[in-house]
Amino acid sequence: MLVDSHAHIDTSRFNADREDVILAALKAGITCIVDPGCDLDSSRFALTLAKAHPGIIFAGVGTHPHDATTYSDEVGTHYREMAREPEVVAIGEFGLDYFRMLSPRDVQRDVFCAHLQLARDCDLPCIIHVRDSHDDVIELLHAHGQGLRGVFHCFSGNVAQAEECLAFDGFMISFAGPLTRQGNALPEVARMAPLDRILVETDSPYLVPQPVRAKRNEPLFVKHVAEKLAEIRGMSFEEIAQVTTTNAVRLFNLDTFPSFQRRSKAERGESIQ
Ligand SMILES: [Zn+2]
Repeated sequence: MLVDSHAHIDTSRFNADREDVILAALKAGITCIVDPGCDLDSSRFALTLAKAHPGIIFAGVGTHPHDATTYSDEVGTHYREMAREPEVVAIGEFGLDYFRMLSPRDVQRDVFCAHLQLARDCDLPCIIHVRDSHDDVIELLHAHGQGLRGVFHCFSGNVAQAEECLAFDGFMISFAGPLTRQGNALPEVARMAPLDRILVETDSPYLVPQPVRAKRNEPLFVKHVAEKLAEIRGMSFEEIAQVTTTNAVRLFNLDTFPSFQRRSKAERGESIQ
């Protein structure tokens, strides 16, 4: 079993073959996919996909920092309503992106804080996007995120930054395609992160891992991230798959979902009632 803890399979780049992509992942042992919305429409579609694939796809609801200017109290009210659905397992993806800066910095910060409040009110984990914005994310989490849980998705920082992130007890670090590439501090981060605080993801359709030669990433390729993580940790692929799956199940409360329980029991060869 392997969980792709972050894949945007709701995006139009999967319109032509979405069901095939999901099936290919399932056949390869990727039993769960968390699809975080990036705005109201994509959050709605992620939820629709989750309802159509119970126990396989789960949704996050949130507004990506690129789209922060589309967020409003009204959007937040919709997220709150959607979060009552059992298929919604997280608030996100939200965060701060000062690399592309597609929304003004103060708008991003306000929308970030609004999502922290949503996570608190809905008692759901946060899926946080951080790009060239580490210090502000840490500052806002200290001020408004105490007691929350979540994941720093597609972690891209160094060891010191990872330590600051992991100082928030309820938070994990998630590794994506960049772990398989040269020239970053991620192998060091992957070595130091506690085993019960790590996840794997694809961030599909972006960030194709090595050695895949494809223009579009898809959940199937999460196994390459897990393989790299296993190599760095000196563990077997199966061990890393088990550790990261257990972490994802715990963070997103996946085993409270009936059809997920049935499927994981069946995979363990236990009888199904
Ligand atoms: Zn994403």
